[in-house]
Amino acid sequence: MPFNFSGTLVPLHLLVNPRLVVPSIIIKDIRQLEFRELRKAGYKGAVFDKDNCLTLPHRDQLVPELQDAWEECRVTFGEGNVLIVSNTAGTRLDPGEIQAESVTHHLRVPVLRHKNLKPSYACISSIRNYFSSLPTPVKDDELVIIGDRIFTDVVLANRMSRKMKAQSGAKDTEKTAEENVTKSSRAGPLSIWTSGVWEREATGLRLLEKTVMECVKRWIAQSNGVATRGDLSRFVKELPPPPVVEKKGLLGRWQRISEFWTTIRRD
Ligand SMILES: [Mg+2]
Repeated sequence: MPFNFSGTLVPLHLLVNPRLVVPSIIIKDIRQLEFRELRKAGYKGAVFDKDNCLTLPHRDQLVPELQDAWEECRVTFGEGNVLIVSNTAGTRLDPGEIQAESVTHHLRVPVLRHKNLKPSYACISSIRNYFSSLPTPVKDDELVIIGDRIFTDVVLANRMSRKMKAQSGAKDTEKTAEENVTKSSRAGPLSIWTSGVWEREATGLRLLEKTVMECVKRWIAQSNGVATRGDLSRFVKELPPPPVVEKKGLLGRWQRISEFWTTIRRD
């Protein structure tokens, strides 16, 4: 893993603003997201991390289980509005941008070219430049940012948020996503943390990040529990059940007898 200078400074920033590590939504993986509901709520663009969010670490192909969800996401947000921002593909660690090209080929979305790693402010500028250069520009408030690392992906998303003045009644028909969702005191991208890991990697660091996040959440709850967003449950659904694998031999016979017996008892 490359040295990430901006990542090492995150603990210092947390001393000033610990809320940076708290995601708006926690899911196991992107199959739980209701992309159409997000779009209906006014979110127009999506930023995805790559490793252990969409692909196995250092691979370029989508995790097969995510095929349907990924297709739905691409169709819902549309051409160009889904962007991959990785700390490997598209960075200085990707000579000749070969990996970025390969990821775009396999996942059929652009990969951001950026010199500075997440969660740096320079990387945030590159993301803003990308979305503001689209034929229909997308604002920060209209973005969802999804990733599996709290100190990079979640912090990056929360660093893009800003304090909002209290709202005084709706008057604008062209509301932003944030206005549609909540009367929050902060506005910015919706930060989504995928807690599931497709392949074990940096287990100790992940545990540390999760512990810090849970401590901050507890602290927020104790110090008057002000939520930064409204009810976001409509953006999340249950994971599909895992496929049933039929066992062979003696175990398979026992499985069938047991299923038969369960059916009789139910009837
Ligand atoms: Mg990742």
